[in-house]
Amino acid sequence: MAMTDLTIAKEAAIRPIQKIAQQAGIAEDALELYGKYKAKIDVNKLPKTTKDGKVVLVTAISPTPAGEGKSTVTVGLADALRQSGESVMVALREPSLGPVMGVKGGATGGGFAQVLPMEDINLHFTGDIHAITSANNALAALIDNHLHQGNALRIDPRRITWKRALDMNDRALRHVTIGLGGPAQGVPREDGFDITVASEIMAVLCLATSREDLKERLARMVIGYTYDREPITVRDLEAQGALALLLKEAFKPNLVQTIEGTPAIIHGGPFANIAHGCNSLMATNTARSLADVVVTEAGFGADLGAEKFMHIKSRKGGFHPDAVVIVATVRALKMHGGVDKKELGAEDADAVRRGIVNLAKHVETIRQFGIEPVVALNRFTGDSDAELAQVMDWAKAEEVAIALTEVWGKGGAGGLELAELVKRQLDKGADFGYLYAEEDAVEEKLRTIVQKVYGGADVQLTDKAKKQLAELKKYGWDALPICMAKTQYSLSDQPKLLGRPEGFTVTIRELIPKLGAGFIVCLTGDIMTMPGLPKSPAALNMDVAEDGQALGLF
Ligand code: ADP
Repeated sequence: MAMTDLTIAKEAAIRPIQKIAQQAGIAEDALELYGKYKAKIDVNKLPKTTKDGKVVLVTAISPTPAGEGKSTVTVGLADALRQSGESVMVALREPSLGPVMGVKGGATGGGFAQVLPMEDINLHFTGDIHAITSANNALAALIDNHLHQGNALRIDPRRITWKRALDMNDRALRHVTIGLGGPAQGVPREDGFDITVASEIMAVLCLATSREDLKERLARMVIGYTYDREPITVRDLEAQGALALLLKEAFKPNLVQTIEGTPAIIHGGPFANIAHGCNSLMATNTARSLADVVVTEAGFGADLGAEKFMHIKSRKGGFHPDAVVIVATVRALKMHGGVDKKELGAEDADAVRRGIVNLAKHVETIRQFGIEPVVALNRFTGDSDAELAQVMDWAKAEEVAIALTEVWGKGGAGGLELAELVKRQLDKGADFGYLYAEEDAVEEKLRTIVQKVYGGADVQLTDKAKKQLAELKKYGWDALPICMAKTQYSLSDQPKLLGRPEGFTVTIRELIPKLGAGFIVCLTGDIMTMPGLPKSPAALNMDVAEDGQALGLF
Protein backbone atom coordinates (compact mmCIF):
# COMPACT_ATOMS: atom_id res chain seq x y z
CA MET A 1 0.00 0.00 0.00
CA ALA A 2 1.26 3.46 -0.87
CA MET A 3 2.24 5.59 2.10
CA THR A 4 -0.17 8.44 2.68
CA ASP A 5 -0.16 11.15 5.32
CA LEU A 6 -2.73 9.07 7.21
CA THR A 7 -0.78 5.78 7.08
CA ILE A 8 2.46 7.52 8.11
CA ALA A 9 0.64 9.22 10.98
CA LYS A 10 -0.93 5.91 12.10
CA GLU A 11 2.42 4.14 12.17
CA ALA A 12 4.14 6.89 14.14
CA ALA A 13 4.85 6.23 17.81
CA ILE A 14 2.65 8.75 19.57
CA ARG A 15 3.55 9.67 23.15
CA PRO A 16 1.11 10.34 26.01
CA ILE A 17 0.36 14.05 26.01
CA GLN A 18 1.55 14.38 29.64
CA LYS A 19 5.08 13.57 28.43
CA ILE A 20 4.93 16.32 25.82
CA ALA A 21 3.58 18.75 28.43
CA GLN A 22 6.36 17.88 30.82
CA GLN A 23 8.94 18.44 28.11
CA ALA A 24 7.37 21.84 27.31
CA GLY A 25 7.38 22.87 30.97
CA ILE A 26 3.61 22.68 31.42
CA ALA A 27 2.69 21.39 34.90
CA GLU A 28 0.02 18.65 35.18
CA ASP A 29 -2.16 21.08 37.04
CA ALA A 30 -2.40 23.28 33.94
CA LEU A 31 -3.25 20.34 31.67
CA GLU A 32 -6.84 19.31 30.87
CA LEU A 33 -6.84 15.96 29.09
CA TYR A 34 -8.97 15.29 26.04
CA GLY A 35 -8.18 11.58 25.75
CA LYS A 36 -4.60 10.31 25.71
CA TYR A 37 -3.03 12.55 23.08
CA LYS A 38 -4.73 15.92 23.23
CA ALA A 39 -5.04 18.40 26.05
CA LYS A 40 -6.14 21.93 26.68
CA ILE A 41 -3.85 24.29 28.55
CA ASP A 42 -5.25 26.36 31.41
CA VAL A 43 -2.97 29.35 30.92
CA ASN A 44 -3.91 30.80 34.30
CA LYS A 45 -2.19 27.85 35.92
CA LEU A 46 1.07 28.24 34.01
CA PRO A 47 3.92 29.69 36.06
CA LYS A 48 4.53 33.34 35.27
CA THR A 49 7.70 33.55 33.19
CA THR A 50 9.54 36.39 31.58
CA LYS A 51 10.41 34.20 28.62
CA ASP A 52 9.76 35.97 25.37
CA GLY A 53 10.36 33.36 22.66
CA LYS A 54 11.29 34.47 19.16
CA VAL A 55 8.76 34.04 16.37
CA VAL A 56 9.49 32.38 13.03
CA LEU A 57 6.67 32.96 10.56
CA VAL A 58 6.23 30.47 7.73
CA THR A 59 4.54 31.83 4.61
CA ALA A 60 4.61 30.93 0.90
CA ILE A 61 4.49 32.02 -2.70
CA SER A 62 1.06 32.26 -4.37
CA PRO A 63 -0.06 28.62 -4.15
CA THR A 64 -1.66 25.98 -6.37
CA PRO A 65 -5.02 24.69 -5.10
CA ALA A 66 -3.22 21.79 -3.33
CA GLY A 67 -1.08 24.03 -1.06
CA GLU A 68 2.71 24.31 -1.22
CA GLY A 69 3.61 22.79 2.14
CA LYS A 70 3.59 25.62 4.70
CA SER A 71 2.19 23.44 7.48
CA THR A 72 4.58 20.65 6.47
CA VAL A 73 7.59 22.99 6.55
CA THR A 74 6.40 24.62 9.81
CA VAL A 75 6.35 21.23 11.52
CA GLY A 76 9.56 19.99 9.86
CA LEU A 77 11.45 23.18 10.66
CA ALA A 78 10.42 22.98 14.32
CA ASP A 79 11.59 19.35 14.44
CA ALA A 80 14.87 20.33 12.78
CA LEU A 81 15.43 23.19 15.23
CA ARG A 82 14.76 20.79 18.08
CA GLN A 83 17.23 18.28 16.62
CA SER A 84 19.81 21.04 16.59
CA GLY A 85 19.31 21.72 20.27
CA GLU A 86 16.80 24.59 20.35
CA SER A 87 13.90 24.86 22.79
CA VAL A 88 11.09 25.12 20.26
CA MET A 89 7.30 24.89 19.89
CA VAL A 90 4.96 24.85 16.92
CA ALA A 91 1.86 27.10 16.77
CA LEU A 92 -0.65 26.20 14.04
CA ARG A 93 -4.26 26.80 13.08
CA GLU A 94 -7.07 24.29 13.55
CA PRO A 95 -8.25 22.73 10.28
CA SER A 96 -11.72 23.56 9.00
CA LEU A 97 -14.04 20.78 7.83
CA GLY A 98 -14.72 22.77 4.64
CA PRO A 99 -11.31 22.12 3.03
CA VAL A 100 -11.00 18.70 4.72
CA MET A 101 -14.17 17.52 2.94
CA GLY A 102 -13.40 19.60 -0.16
CA VAL A 103 -10.19 19.78 -2.13
CA LYS A 104 -7.29 20.99 -0.09
CA GLY A 105 -7.07 18.30 2.51
CA GLY A 106 -6.11 18.81 6.12
CA ALA A 107 -3.86 21.27 7.83
CA THR A 108 -1.68 19.01 9.93
CA GLY A 109 1.39 18.93 7.67
CA GLY A 110 2.37 15.96 5.56
CA GLY A 111 4.67 12.95 5.20
CA PHE A 112 7.09 12.76 8.14
CA ALA A 113 6.42 16.36 9.16
CA GLN A 114 2.97 16.09 10.73
CA VAL A 115 1.20 16.84 13.97
CA LEU A 116 -0.61 13.99 15.72
CA PRO A 117 -3.23 12.64 16.11
CA MET A 118 -3.90 13.90 12.57
CA GLU A 119 -7.34 12.33 12.13
CA ASP A 120 -8.68 13.91 15.33
CA ILE A 121 -7.13 17.30 14.60
CA ASN A 122 -8.57 17.27 11.07
CA LEU A 123 -12.06 16.20 12.15
CA HIS A 124 -13.61 17.59 15.35
CA PHE A 125 -10.43 17.98 17.47
CA THR A 126 -11.42 19.42 20.85
CA GLY A 127 -14.64 20.95 19.54
CA ASP A 128 -13.42 24.56 19.40
CA ILE A 129 -14.80 25.27 15.93
CA HIS A 130 -18.16 23.74 16.88
CA ALA A 131 -18.25 25.98 19.96
CA ILE A 132 -17.58 29.01 17.76
CA THR A 133 -20.38 27.91 15.40
CA SER A 134 -22.72 27.58 18.41
CA ALA A 135 -21.82 31.02 19.76
CA ASN A 136 -22.29 32.54 16.32
CA ASN A 137 -25.70 30.92 15.87
CA ALA A 138 -26.83 31.61 19.44
CA LEU A 139 -26.35 35.29 18.63
CA ALA A 140 -28.34 34.87 15.39
CA ALA A 141 -31.16 33.19 17.36
CA LEU A 142 -31.14 36.02 19.93
CA ILE A 143 -31.40 38.61 17.15
CA ASP A 144 -34.37 36.86 15.49
CA ASN A 145 -36.02 36.33 18.86
CA HIS A 146 -35.62 40.03 19.59
CA LEU A 147 -37.47 40.84 16.35
CA HIS A 148 -40.20 38.32 17.20
CA GLN A 149 -40.68 39.56 20.78
CA GLY A 150 -41.53 43.13 19.83
CA ASN A 151 -38.21 44.51 18.60
CA ALA A 152 -37.66 47.02 21.41
CA LEU A 153 -34.34 48.10 19.83
CA ARG A 154 -36.09 48.86 16.51
CA ILE A 155 -33.64 46.68 14.53
CA ASP A 156 -34.34 46.95 10.80
CA PRO A 157 -34.67 43.31 9.62
CA ARG A 158 -33.38 44.41 6.20
CA ARG A 159 -30.20 45.75 7.73
CA ILE A 160 -29.07 42.86 9.88
CA THR A 161 -25.45 42.14 8.96
CA TRP A 162 -24.91 39.22 11.35
CA LYS A 163 -25.05 35.93 9.46
CA ARG A 164 -25.41 32.36 10.60
CA ALA A 165 -22.36 30.06 10.33
CA LEU A 166 -21.46 26.46 9.56
CA ASP A 167 -18.04 24.83 9.33
CA MET A 168 -18.60 23.33 5.88
CA ASN A 169 -18.34 24.36 2.24
CA ASP A 170 -22.05 24.67 1.48
CA ARG A 171 -22.85 27.11 -1.31
CA ALA A 172 -26.59 26.44 -1.04
CA LEU A 173 -26.62 28.36 2.25
CA ARG A 174 -25.09 31.58 0.93
CA HIS A 175 -28.51 33.23 0.64
CA VAL A 176 -31.50 31.93 2.60
CA THR A 177 -34.91 33.21 3.64
CA ILE A 178 -35.92 32.58 7.24
CA GLY A 179 -38.97 33.09 9.43
CA LEU A 180 -41.48 31.85 6.84
CA GLY A 181 -44.74 30.17 7.88
CA GLY A 182 -46.79 32.87 9.59
CA PRO A 183 -46.67 35.02 12.72
CA ALA A 184 -45.77 32.17 15.09
CA GLN A 185 -42.58 31.36 13.15
CA GLY A 186 -40.73 34.64 13.60
CA VAL A 187 -40.13 37.62 11.37
CA PRO A 188 -39.39 36.73 7.72
CA ARG A 189 -36.14 38.14 6.40
CA GLU A 190 -33.22 37.36 4.13
CA ASP A 191 -30.23 35.77 5.81
CA GLY A 192 -27.13 33.80 4.80
CA PHE A 193 -24.38 31.59 6.15
CA ASP A 194 -20.62 32.15 6.31
CA ILE A 195 -18.17 29.32 6.87
CA THR A 196 -17.31 29.41 10.60
CA VAL A 197 -13.63 30.11 9.92
CA ALA A 198 -14.65 33.39 8.26
CA SER A 199 -16.92 34.42 11.14
CA GLU A 200 -16.11 37.38 13.35
CA ILE A 201 -16.28 35.21 16.46
CA MET A 202 -13.39 33.12 15.09
CA ALA A 203 -11.35 36.31 14.63
CA VAL A 204 -12.34 37.56 18.08
CA LEU A 205 -11.25 34.30 19.71
CA CYS A 206 -7.95 34.46 17.83
CA LEU A 207 -7.14 38.06 18.73
CA ALA A 208 -8.36 38.24 22.35
CA THR A 209 -5.63 38.31 24.99
CA SER A 210 -7.78 37.53 28.06
CA ARG A 211 -11.34 36.52 28.88
CA GLU A 212 -12.12 40.12 29.73
CA ASP A 213 -10.77 41.21 26.35
CA LEU A 214 -12.77 38.39 24.71
CA LYS A 215 -16.00 39.61 26.33
CA GLU A 216 -15.30 43.23 25.44
CA ARG A 217 -14.63 42.31 21.81
CA LEU A 218 -17.79 40.20 21.63
CA ALA A 219 -19.77 43.13 23.08
CA ARG A 220 -18.41 45.50 20.41
CA MET A 221 -19.50 43.36 17.44
CA VAL A 222 -22.01 45.17 15.19
CA ILE A 223 -24.97 42.97 14.22
CA GLY A 224 -26.96 45.43 12.11
CA TYR A 225 -28.67 48.81 12.12
CA THR A 226 -31.91 50.33 13.39
CA TYR A 227 -34.61 51.93 11.22
CA ASP A 228 -32.75 55.19 11.96
CA ARG A 229 -29.48 53.68 10.68
CA GLU A 230 -27.89 53.57 14.11
CA PRO A 231 -25.58 50.56 14.68
CA ILE A 232 -26.71 47.81 17.02
CA THR A 233 -24.05 45.87 18.89
CA VAL A 234 -23.97 42.69 20.95
CA ARG A 235 -23.81 44.94 24.01
CA ASP A 236 -27.24 46.37 23.09
CA LEU A 237 -28.58 42.80 23.09
CA GLU A 238 -26.74 42.03 26.36
CA ALA A 239 -25.50 38.78 24.85
CA GLN A 240 -21.72 39.00 25.39
CA GLY A 241 -21.83 37.00 28.64
CA ALA A 242 -23.61 34.06 27.02
CA LEU A 243 -21.31 34.10 24.00
CA ALA A 244 -18.19 34.19 26.19
CA LEU A 245 -19.63 31.32 28.24
CA LEU A 246 -20.20 29.24 25.10
CA LEU A 247 -16.52 29.84 24.28
CA LYS A 248 -15.37 28.92 27.81
CA GLU A 249 -13.32 25.88 26.79
CA ALA A 250 -12.66 26.90 23.19
CA PHE A 251 -10.63 29.84 24.46
CA LYS A 252 -8.02 27.49 25.98
CA PRO A 253 -5.15 26.54 23.60
CA ASN A 254 -4.77 22.87 22.59
CA LEU A 255 -1.56 20.90 23.07
CA VAL A 256 -0.54 18.09 20.69
CA GLN A 257 2.78 16.77 19.30
CA THR A 258 4.67 16.38 16.05
CA ILE A 259 5.68 12.91 14.81
CA GLU A 260 9.09 13.58 16.38
CA GLY A 261 7.61 14.66 19.71
CA THR A 262 7.99 18.44 19.45
CA PRO A 263 5.24 20.19 21.42
CA ALA A 264 2.66 21.90 19.21
CA ILE A 265 -0.14 24.27 20.13
CA ILE A 266 -3.02 24.27 17.67
CA HIS A 267 -5.66 26.89 18.29
CA GLY A 268 -8.02 29.02 16.22
CA GLY A 269 -8.42 28.68 12.49
CA PRO A 270 -9.42 31.70 10.41
CA PHE A 271 -8.88 31.35 6.63
CA ALA A 272 -6.33 33.72 5.15
CA ASN A 273 -8.26 34.70 2.02
CA ILE A 274 -11.54 35.67 3.68
CA ALA A 275 -10.34 36.24 7.26
CA HIS A 276 -7.03 37.15 8.95
CA GLY A 277 -5.45 33.72 8.61
CA CYS A 278 -3.36 33.16 11.76
CA ASN A 279 -3.67 30.93 14.81
CA SER A 280 -4.70 32.54 18.11
CA LEU A 281 -2.67 35.10 20.01
CA MET A 282 -3.30 32.96 23.10
CA ALA A 283 -1.52 30.07 21.37
CA THR A 284 1.42 32.09 20.08
CA ASN A 285 1.89 33.92 23.37
CA THR A 286 1.60 30.72 25.40
CA ALA A 287 4.21 29.08 23.17
CA ARG A 288 6.45 32.15 23.45
CA SER A 289 6.24 31.94 27.23
CA LEU A 290 7.37 28.29 27.15
CA ALA A 291 9.94 28.03 24.34
CA ASP A 292 12.86 30.08 23.01
CA VAL A 293 11.62 29.76 19.42
CA VAL A 294 8.05 29.47 18.14
CA VAL A 295 7.47 28.36 14.55
CA THR A 296 4.09 29.49 13.29
CA GLU A 297 2.25 29.75 9.99
CA ALA A 298 -0.05 32.24 8.28
CA GLY A 299 -2.29 31.04 5.47
CA PHE A 300 -1.80 31.15 1.69
CA GLY A 301 0.85 33.42 0.11
CA ALA A 302 2.74 36.27 1.77
CA ASP A 303 0.29 38.73 0.15
CA LEU A 304 -2.48 37.32 2.38
CA GLY A 305 -1.60 35.55 5.65
CA ALA A 306 1.80 37.15 6.21
CA GLU A 307 0.58 40.69 5.45
CA LYS A 308 -2.24 40.21 7.96
CA PHE A 309 0.09 38.54 10.46
CA MET A 310 2.20 41.70 10.42
CA HIS A 311 -0.53 44.33 10.32
CA ILE A 312 -3.25 42.67 12.41
CA LYS A 313 -1.95 39.90 14.65
CA SER A 314 1.54 41.23 15.47
CA ARG A 315 0.14 44.69 16.09
CA LYS A 316 -2.44 43.37 18.56
CA GLY A 317 0.07 41.04 20.15
CA GLY A 318 2.82 43.60 20.57
CA PHE A 319 5.48 41.45 18.87
CA HIS A 320 6.73 40.82 15.35
CA PRO A 321 8.31 37.90 13.55
CA ASP A 322 12.06 37.68 14.04
CA ALA A 323 12.46 35.54 10.93
CA VAL A 324 10.26 34.65 7.95
CA VAL A 325 10.39 31.49 5.83
CA ILE A 326 8.85 31.60 2.35
CA VAL A 327 7.90 28.15 1.08
CA ALA A 328 8.22 27.66 -2.67
CA THR A 329 7.68 24.57 -4.81
CA VAL A 330 8.74 23.71 -8.31
CA ARG A 331 5.13 22.86 -9.21
CA ALA A 332 3.76 26.27 -8.16
CA LEU A 333 6.62 28.07 -9.91
CA LYS A 334 5.81 26.10 -13.06
CA MET A 335 2.20 27.21 -12.76
CA HIS A 336 3.33 30.84 -12.46
CA GLY A 337 5.53 30.22 -15.48
CA GLY A 338 2.43 29.47 -17.55
CA VAL A 339 2.03 25.67 -17.31
CA ASP A 340 -1.55 24.38 -17.12
CA LYS A 341 -2.49 23.03 -13.66
CA LYS A 342 -3.07 19.55 -15.13
CA GLU A 343 0.44 19.44 -16.63
CA LEU A 344 2.44 20.37 -13.53
CA GLY A 345 3.88 16.84 -13.27
CA ALA A 346 5.87 17.16 -16.51
CA GLU A 347 9.43 18.48 -16.35
CA ASP A 348 9.80 22.07 -17.52
CA ALA A 349 12.80 23.95 -16.12
CA ASP A 350 12.11 26.93 -18.37
CA ALA A 351 8.66 27.38 -16.90
CA VAL A 352 10.16 27.23 -13.41
CA ARG A 353 12.55 30.01 -14.36
CA ARG A 354 9.71 32.13 -15.76
CA GLY A 355 7.62 31.57 -12.62
CA ILE A 356 10.31 32.77 -10.21
CA VAL A 357 8.97 36.33 -10.58
CA ASN A 358 6.22 35.35 -8.16
CA LEU A 359 8.71 34.20 -5.52
CA ALA A 360 10.81 37.32 -6.13
CA LYS A 361 7.81 39.56 -5.34
CA HIS A 362 7.11 37.77 -2.06
CA VAL A 363 10.79 38.09 -1.09
CA GLU A 364 10.62 41.83 -1.79
CA THR A 365 7.43 42.13 0.26
CA ILE A 366 8.97 40.54 3.34
CA ARG A 367 12.07 42.71 2.95
CA GLN A 368 9.84 45.79 3.02
CA PHE A 369 8.82 44.80 6.57
CA GLY A 370 12.51 44.91 7.54
CA ILE A 371 12.98 41.15 7.67
CA GLU A 372 15.41 39.22 5.47
CA PRO A 373 13.46 36.09 4.46
CA VAL A 374 14.74 32.55 4.07
CA VAL A 375 13.30 30.54 1.18
CA ALA A 376 12.44 26.88 1.80
CA LEU A 377 12.34 25.06 -1.52
CA ASN A 378 9.98 22.22 -0.58
CA ARG A 379 11.19 19.26 -2.61
CA PHE A 380 8.72 16.86 -4.23
CA THR A 381 9.91 13.46 -5.48
CA GLY A 382 9.05 14.34 -9.09
CA ASP A 383 11.16 17.55 -9.15
CA SER A 384 14.09 17.26 -11.55
CA ASP A 385 17.61 18.48 -10.74
CA ALA A 386 17.40 20.99 -13.58
CA GLU A 387 14.16 22.44 -12.19
CA LEU A 388 15.54 22.69 -8.64
CA ALA A 389 18.77 24.23 -9.95
CA GLN A 390 16.80 27.09 -11.56
CA VAL A 391 15.58 28.19 -8.15
CA MET A 392 18.83 27.58 -6.28
CA ASP A 393 20.85 29.49 -8.91
CA TRP A 394 18.41 32.40 -8.90
CA ALA A 395 18.61 32.67 -5.10
CA LYS A 396 22.38 32.63 -5.19
CA ALA A 397 22.49 35.35 -7.82
CA GLU A 398 19.98 37.49 -5.92
CA GLU A 399 21.61 36.84 -2.53
CA VAL A 400 18.47 35.28 -1.11
CA ALA A 401 19.05 32.68 1.62
CA ILE A 402 17.60 29.37 0.42
CA ALA A 403 17.56 25.76 1.59
CA LEU A 404 16.37 22.73 -0.31
CA THR A 405 13.98 21.25 2.23
CA GLU A 406 13.06 17.58 2.49
CA VAL A 407 11.06 17.44 5.70
CA TRP A 408 8.10 15.75 4.00
CA GLY A 409 10.24 12.69 3.22
CA LYS A 410 12.75 12.83 6.09
CA GLY A 411 11.16 14.75 8.98
CA GLY A 412 13.40 17.17 10.91
CA ALA A 413 16.54 15.63 9.38
CA GLY A 414 15.40 17.02 6.02
CA GLY A 415 15.25 20.56 7.40
CA LEU A 416 18.59 20.98 9.18
CA GLU A 417 20.00 23.37 6.60
CA LEU A 418 16.83 25.45 6.72
CA ALA A 419 17.09 25.48 10.52
CA GLU A 420 20.68 26.73 10.29
CA LEU A 421 19.68 29.60 7.98
CA VAL A 422 16.75 30.50 10.22
CA LYS A 423 18.96 30.50 13.31
CA ARG A 424 21.40 32.79 11.55
CA GLN A 425 18.53 35.15 10.81
CA LEU A 426 17.28 34.99 14.40
CA ASP A 427 20.76 35.92 15.61
CA LYS A 428 20.92 38.87 13.22
CA GLY A 429 17.42 40.04 14.19
CA ALA A 430 14.94 42.10 12.22
CA ASP A 431 14.50 45.82 11.76
CA PHE A 432 10.74 45.50 11.69
CA GLY A 433 8.32 48.20 10.58
CA TYR A 434 4.69 48.26 9.45
CA LEU A 435 3.84 49.38 5.93
CA TYR A 436 0.90 51.48 7.12
CA ALA A 437 -0.27 53.08 10.35
CA GLU A 438 -3.73 52.33 11.75
CA GLU A 439 -4.62 56.01 11.67
CA ASP A 440 -3.87 56.38 7.94
CA ALA A 441 -6.99 57.04 5.83
CA VAL A 442 -8.72 53.83 4.67
CA GLU A 443 -8.00 54.59 0.99
CA GLU A 444 -4.35 55.13 1.84
CA LYS A 445 -4.11 51.87 3.78
CA LEU A 446 -5.69 50.04 0.85
CA ARG A 447 -3.38 51.70 -1.67
CA THR A 448 -0.33 50.79 0.43
CA ILE A 449 -1.33 47.12 0.50
CA VAL A 450 -2.12 47.05 -3.23
CA GLN A 451 1.06 48.81 -4.28
CA LYS A 452 3.61 47.50 -1.80
CA VAL A 453 2.32 43.99 -1.12
CA TYR A 454 0.49 43.04 -4.34
CA GLY A 455 2.68 45.08 -6.69
CA GLY A 456 -0.39 46.67 -8.31
CA ALA A 457 -0.99 50.19 -9.62
CA ASP A 458 -3.97 51.38 -7.62
CA VAL A 459 -7.21 50.62 -5.84
CA GLN A 460 -10.78 51.62 -6.68
CA LEU A 461 -13.99 51.39 -4.67
CA THR A 462 -17.39 50.47 -6.09
CA ASP A 463 -20.24 52.89 -5.37
CA LYS A 464 -21.46 50.54 -2.65
CA ALA A 465 -17.99 50.46 -1.04
CA LYS A 466 -17.78 54.28 -1.23
CA LYS A 467 -21.07 54.56 0.64
CA GLN A 468 -19.87 52.09 3.23
CA LEU A 469 -16.64 54.04 3.64
CA ALA A 470 -18.63 57.22 4.30
CA GLU A 471 -20.53 55.32 7.00
CA LEU A 472 -17.33 53.97 8.54
CA LYS A 473 -16.06 57.52 8.79
CA LYS A 474 -19.35 58.79 10.21
CA TYR A 475 -19.25 56.21 13.00
CA GLY A 476 -15.52 56.76 13.65
CA TRP A 477 -14.56 53.21 12.69
CA ASP A 478 -11.96 54.04 10.07
CA ALA A 479 -8.80 53.93 12.19
CA LEU A 480 -8.64 50.13 12.13
CA PRO A 481 -6.30 47.84 10.20
CA ILE A 482 -7.50 46.33 6.94
CA CYS A 483 -8.35 42.65 6.51
CA MET A 484 -8.27 42.03 2.78
CA ALA A 485 -10.50 39.30 1.34
CA LYS A 486 -8.80 38.36 -1.91
CA THR A 487 -8.10 35.35 -4.09
CA GLN A 488 -5.03 33.38 -2.97
CA TYR A 489 -4.07 32.35 -6.49
CA SER A 490 -2.94 35.72 -7.81
CA LEU A 491 -1.15 38.71 -6.37
CA SER A 492 -4.01 40.68 -7.93
CA ASP A 493 -7.78 40.34 -7.33
CA GLN A 494 -8.14 38.19 -10.47
CA PRO A 495 -7.38 34.49 -9.88
CA LYS A 496 -6.12 33.90 -13.41
CA LEU A 497 -3.40 36.59 -13.35
CA LEU A 498 -0.49 34.39 -12.31
CA GLY A 499 3.22 35.10 -11.99
CA ARG A 500 3.88 38.73 -11.13
CA PRO A 501 1.14 40.84 -12.69
CA GLU A 502 1.72 44.57 -12.95
CA GLY A 503 -0.31 47.68 -13.61
CA PHE A 504 -3.54 46.21 -12.24
CA THR A 505 -6.14 48.03 -10.18
CA VAL A 506 -7.80 46.19 -7.31
CA THR A 507 -11.53 46.79 -6.94
CA ILE A 508 -12.97 46.89 -3.42
CA ARG A 509 -16.52 45.57 -3.63
CA GLU A 510 -17.54 46.00 -0.02
CA LEU A 511 -16.18 47.25 3.31
CA ILE A 512 -17.43 45.42 6.38
CA PRO A 513 -16.58 46.77 9.84
CA LYS A 514 -15.64 44.04 12.31
CA LEU A 515 -15.34 46.04 15.49
CA GLY A 516 -14.95 43.00 17.74
CA ALA A 517 -12.10 41.63 15.69
CA GLY A 518 -10.80 45.18 15.33
CA PHE A 519 -10.42 45.36 11.56
CA ILE A 520 -12.24 46.35 8.39
CA VAL A 521 -12.85 43.45 5.98
CA CYS A 522 -12.46 44.59 2.37
CA LEU A 523 -14.00 42.24 -0.19
CA THR A 524 -12.34 42.12 -3.61
CA GLY A 525 -13.12 40.22 -6.81
CA ASP A 526 -15.77 37.55 -6.40
CA ILE A 527 -14.33 36.12 -3.20
CA MET A 528 -16.99 34.28 -1.14
CA THR A 529 -17.28 34.03 2.63
CA MET A 530 -19.03 30.66 2.15
CA PRO A 531 -17.07 28.42 -0.26
CA GLY A 532 -18.53 25.54 -2.25
CA LEU A 533 -17.40 21.92 -2.64
CA PRO A 534 -15.52 20.93 -5.82
CA LYS A 535 -16.67 18.46 -8.46
CA SER A 536 -14.85 15.55 -6.79
CA PRO A 537 -14.86 16.32 -3.08
CA ALA A 538 -12.16 14.64 -0.93
CA ALA A 539 -15.07 13.39 1.20
CA LEU A 540 -15.91 10.75 -1.41
CA ASN A 541 -12.66 8.87 -0.61
CA MET A 542 -13.31 8.69 3.12
CA ASP A 543 -14.54 5.84 5.27
CA VAL A 544 -14.23 4.41 8.75
CA ALA A 545 -13.28 0.82 9.68
CA GLU A 546 -15.20 -1.37 12.12
CA ASP A 547 -12.59 -0.66 14.80
CA GLY A 548 -13.13 3.09 14.40
CA GLN A 549 -9.97 3.81 12.37
CA ALA A 550 -10.22 6.63 9.85
CA LEU A 551 -9.70 5.64 6.20
CA GLY A 552 -8.93 7.80 3.17
CA LEU A 553 -8.32 10.99 5.14
CA PHE A 554 -5.60 12.02 2.62
P1 ADP B 1 -0.07 24.44 3.05
O1 ADP B 1 0.08 24.53 4.53
O2 ADP B 1 0.84 25.36 2.33
O3 ADP B 1 -1.47 24.53 2.58
P2 ADP B 1 0.45 21.64 3.47
O4 ADP B 1 1.67 21.59 4.32
O5 ADP B 1 -0.87 21.44 4.13
O6 ADP B 1 0.42 22.98 2.61
O7 ADP B 1 0.66 20.59 2.30
C1 ADP B 1 -0.35 20.38 1.33
C2 ADP B 1 -0.32 18.92 0.89
O8 ADP B 1 0.86 18.67 0.14
C3 ADP B 1 -0.33 17.92 2.02
O9 ADP B 1 -1.19 16.87 1.70
C4 ADP B 1 1.10 17.44 2.11
O10 ADP B 1 1.18 16.10 2.53
C5 ADP B 1 1.57 17.58 0.68
N1 ADP B 1 3.01 17.88 0.60
C6 ADP B 1 3.65 18.92 1.17
N2 ADP B 1 4.96 18.88 0.89
C7 ADP B 1 5.16 17.79 0.12
C8 ADP B 1 6.31 17.20 -0.51
N3 ADP B 1 7.51 17.76 -0.39
N4 ADP B 1 6.13 16.08 -1.23
C9 ADP B 1 4.91 15.52 -1.36
N5 ADP B 1 3.79 16.03 -0.81
C10 ADP B 1 3.90 17.14 -0.06
